[in-house]
Amino acid sequence: MKIICIGRNYAEHAKEMNSPVPTEPVFFLKPDTALIKDNQPFYYPDFSKEIHHEVELVLKINKPGKNIAVKFANKYYDEIGIGIDFTARDIQAKIKEKGLPWEKAKAFDGSAPIGQFVNKTKLNEMNNINFHLNINGNQVQRGNTMDLLFSFDAVIAYVSQFVTLKTGDLIFTGTPEGVGEVKIGDRLEAFIEDEKLLSFEIK
Ligand code: MG
Repeated sequence: MKIICIGRNYAEHAKEMNSPVPTEPVFFLKPDTALIKDNQPFYYPDFSKEIHHEVELVLKINKPGKNIAVKFANKYYDEIGIGIDFTARDIQAKIKEKGLPWEKAKAFDGSAPIGQFVNKTKLNEMNNINFHLNINGNQVQRGNTMDLLFSFDAVIAYVSQFVTLKTGDLIFTGTPEGVGEVKIGDRLEAFIEDEKLLSFEIK
């Protein structure tokens, strides 16, 4: 399986990064070794001094697809989860300066913790889903899919032009504003609506 991540999909996050608001989706990949499941801890890596949290809704692809039309894209996922797109912001800053690929800052081991998934029939309309991240009990990021620049369906259609989607692939759909550093000892808890679906510690 592969992990596809959408960058800058909420305008307020693009602004806080001093990045332009994109006119078409930006995507990058993480390998399967990035995954953390079952609320296992994240071990702070030696190569960075500035690991940032980016809480994101995650789509689980349920069948293979290529060149998927927007109007059929909703048939390619049944379940939505929540995850963290961990980013080594200090490394990313250097990479961006030089125009180099983002993998060193984004695709490292453990950079994609994911929680439990819920069936989308249990949620509101796909364009009105609330989600948030708490650190040590304090809310640090909050989003609603009404603020997405590119909807779930638009993202699936766009990415599938370039990359064939397969069953079990995950799509991280972008983070709202409020990204920031994590520290060893922090407990991260992520929610869709009021349901806690992910809880883990930084070690
Ligand atoms: Mg992200």
